[in-house]
Amino acid sequence: MVALVLMVVGLYSIETGYKYQFSNNDPGRVTVYCVKKESTGCLWHVHAVSEFDSFVIKTMHSEHFCGFVCKDVTSCLMSSKLVENLILEIVRGMPLVKPKDLMTTLKTDYGLDITYYYAYTAKKIALEEIHGIDGLCFHQLKWLKNTIVENNPGSRVILDIDSTKKFERMFICFEASSYGFNHCRPIVYLDGTFLKNKHKGCLLAATAKNGNQ
Ligand SMILES: [Zn+2]
Repeated sequence: MVALVLMVVGLYSIETGYKYQFSNNDPGRVTVYCVKKESTGCLWHVHAVSEFDSFVIKTMHSEHFCGFVCKDVTSCLMSSKLVENLILEIVRGMPLVKPKDLMTTLKTDYGLDITYYYAYTAKKIALEEIHGIDGLCFHQLKWLKNTIVENNPGSRVILDIDSTKKFERMFICFEASSYGFNHCRPIVYLDGTFLKNKHKGCLLAATAKNGNQ
């Protein structure tokens, strides 16, 4: 929970230029003060407590009395973890965002300069965080096969692997689709799409016209 507060306050710090300090080591609650509280008596603070997977702000004073500040792009709160979280949220909203667009957004909105390589790598890590790692997903195909057969009786699933247990192909036909084919007109639409992830491949789908149409 504290990490989440740290990230949000870190982003707020980048946007406003004000710096903060944390107190309370209790994992269930955290208080954030203006870094100039002692020297200027600034009352800005946020007190938050943990509830489920999030945190709730209980008390807050949102005005600074410590004077004006300028954005400081070298702020220590702007850690690489913070930038990664920032990119994670951008990629979550726009999975197809390009590294160059990430560079532009971070520069425009937060004054951050990142290299193309950093943007490319951070986007890759963000996609893995959101969708899982491609390689590990193959380990779940056996589970997927069993789950489909178990929950859709009559469905046919064939998972082919070679002698080294390397994935070759997978065929899935749900019982409902198989049953529906018996009542369709004899027209089959076949379409395929190239999988553009690390392991490539092709996804084929066959669909027949609904007999009622
Ligand atoms: Zn202040």
